[in-house]
Amino acid sequence: MSTKDFTHTQVGIVGAGPAGLVLGHLLHRQGIESVILENRSREYVEGRVRAGVLEQGTVDLLIEMGVGERLQREGLVHHGVELRFGGVGHRIPFDELTGGRGITIYGQQEVVKDLIAARIESGAPLLFEVDDVRPTGIDTDSPALGFRHGGEERELRCDVVAGCDGFHGVCRDAVPDGALTLREHVYPFGWLGILAEVEPSSDELIYCHHDRGFALHSMRSPQITRLYLQCEPDEDIERWPDERIWAELHARFECKGWSLKEGPIVEKGVTPMRSFVAEPMQHGRLFLAGDAVHIVPATGAKGLNLAVADVRVLADALTRWFAAGDESGLRGYSATCLPRVWKAQHFAWWMTSMFHRMPDDRDGFMARLQRAQLDYLCSSRAAATSLAENYVGLKHVVLATEDQIV
Ligand SMILES: Cc1cc2nc3c(=O)[nH]c(=O)nc-3n(C[C@H](O)[C@H](O)[C@H](O)COP(=O)(O)OP(=O)(O)OC[C@H]3O[C@@H](n4cnc5c(N)ncnc54)[C@H](O)[C@@H]3O)c2cc1C
Repeated sequence: MSTKDFTHTQVGIVGAGPAGLVLGHLLHRQGIESVILENRSREYVEGRVRAGVLEQGTVDLLIEMGVGERLQREGLVHHGVELRFGGVGHRIPFDELTGGRGITIYGQQEVVKDLIAARIESGAPLLFEVDDVRPTGIDTDSPALGFRHGGEERELRCDVVAGCDGFHGVCRDAVPDGALTLREHVYPFGWLGILAEVEPSSDELIYCHHDRGFALHSMRSPQITRLYLQCEPDEDIERWPDERIWAELHARFECKGWSLKEGPIVEKGVTPMRSFVAEPMQHGRLFLAGDAVHIVPATGAKGLNLAVADVRVLADALTRWFAAGDESGLRGYSATCLPRVWKAQHFAWWMTSMFHRMPDDRDGFMARLQRAQLDYLCSSRAAATSLAENYVGLKHVVLATEDQIV
């Protein structure tokens, strides 16, 4: 679609990641117009390998939205997870502990492909390779998005702007100084992640505690294994030839009667571990969602799921506002989302703290505490249930009522 075709929309969405695309689709189904502006190419966005664990609530929503057909066909449903420590595996049965709930393994890039296809089919505008997006007038009733597309300067006037542009986006920075409180925790380690062309060595994820550091066995499909190793936060990937990666993975996953399958490594990269929340998640006519406003360490597999939960609340609030002029949902957006965000933050921090080797743990005190916690998890139904219900995902929340709005 040409950018000349529009100068105004109801919701200007910045970013075509999971948050922006799910929001756009939910709004479209309610007859609300939106324009999505994305600074990368379609090819780049559809090829970006990131999350892969979908909570039950995320899966249910994608199906309800009509974009779950391939997900239901190709997604791998998991009913449990293995916690491995001291060279022994212990299974946490999600379905038994949570009344039949589970997770689905389906790559974020596949979710994004399905959502982009649905957007294009709907005819609703989605512009790739847009430069220099500038939110303006967010304190007024007529905010706008300035941007450049195809070499031309454009301005899109909006009723509201949704900042779904990830951690490094521009929308959060458009909020005046002092209006947001930023809280952050940076962990003293990162993850070295690989994708390998080999069938997974286990049917379920394996979270592994080891004296050499944390390791995670995951997968993207029956042919592709995803593996992670705890590493330095600024680890130089050049120091990790494939042989070294496999040797380290074998050492950490060592378990009697089990072996790790090797295959060609087709992608590798280092991700730092960070927790971050900006509060409130809104300012004037700008609403922030997903990684633009909170980051969780990947250990809890919550990032994509939180992004989806945010925009579900935002779509409901916008629907109320556009349909009936009821502003309460929009005013309560942040108050509705933040309790879930902080619970997910806590879960991700707890999982991270329990599994990773702490660099300053010289006498092994922290490692002993971690092992005690893991032992307890695997011997107490109550403790295992707590992990299971957080892992499959807390129920999606409904909009806050007037008296909850602060
Ligand atoms: C290695 C890795 C592994 C992960 N594993 C998991 C996991 O297992 N489970 C899980 O739930 N989460 C996981 N996450 C987190 C998850 O990927 C993110 O939380 C998720 O992508 C958030 O979606 P989002 O739409 O908010 O942001 P993003 O996916 O970052 O999307 C933001 C979009 O905005 C675009 N953009 C940025 N700036 C601009 C701009 N100025 N103008 C226009 N567009 C812009 C970006 O190109 C991008 O397309 C992982 C993340 C990483 C990096």
